[in-house]
Amino acid sequence: MISLENVTKIYQRGAAPALDSCTLNIGAGEFVFLVGSSGSGKSTLLSLILREERVTSGTIHVLGKDVSKLSRWRVPHFRRNIGTVFQDFKLLENKSVFDNVAIAMQVIGKPRHLILTEVPRVLETVGLGGKERRMPHELSGGEMQRVAIARAMINRPKLLLADEPTGNLDPRTSLGIMRLLDQINRNGTTVVMATHDHEIVNQVRNRVVELEEGKVIRDQEHGSYGAGR
Ligand code: ADP
Ligand code: MG
Repeated sequence: MISLENVTKIYQRGAAPALDSCTLNIGAGEFVFLVGSSGSGKSTLLSLILREERVTSGTIHVLGKDVSKLSRWRVPHFRRNIGTVFQDFKLLENKSVFDNVAIAMQVIGKPRHLILTEVPRVLETVGLGGKERRMPHELSGGEMQRVAIARAMINRPKLLLADEPTGNLDPRTSLGIMRLLDQINRNGTTVVMATHDHEIVNQVRNRVVELEEGKVIRDQEHGSYGAGR
């Protein structure tokens, strides 16, 4: 599903590498926590997978494609297979919950009748049934993140990338979001989640890949994170 070979990313000439000779394989159906302190390279790794950034050296294959060889005009089509969720939700403030999710289907030309049946169905699965007409400012943080997850999942991507999805949420709400991502993974979607939330990682015990100064320093099945665990 994802395979990195000796991937190095240097943003500016002379700067320390954000990623330094990373080699990593993630199989279909896995749920992987990407952990490490701030600045360790987690977001960089996700943006290379998404082809928002390009590698300085090394190769990345995602969903069978060599991402570094993907021409620019193919990138949007490539990204259709990948859902993304971020710490700051990235909702459209002047659009309803329904429209925030529907837009992901509209941009790829899905017919209206499908949008009208699929959006309520997905909102139901993320626990937002009946809240279609709310505006983002009428939602709690956890509900906003559920909208973002619904939008990420509406086109049934094979891969979900989540960058600190619980970073703006309190521990209880975070756990709910974590359960939802876990459920999405159980339904067959590969999930890669960058986080420095020790509690979440230690509660779920998925595979843990730890970065430090751009290097993979640990890759552990059923891993933990943080002192004393
Ligand atoms: P994390 O997500 O683990 O906090 P990042 O991948 O954001 O880490 O950052 C890794 C390193 O790369 C940091 O030193 C950061 O300052 C640097 N970096 C990240 N994005 C950019 C960018 N767009 N331009 C220059 N440097 C960047
Ligand atoms: Mg980051």
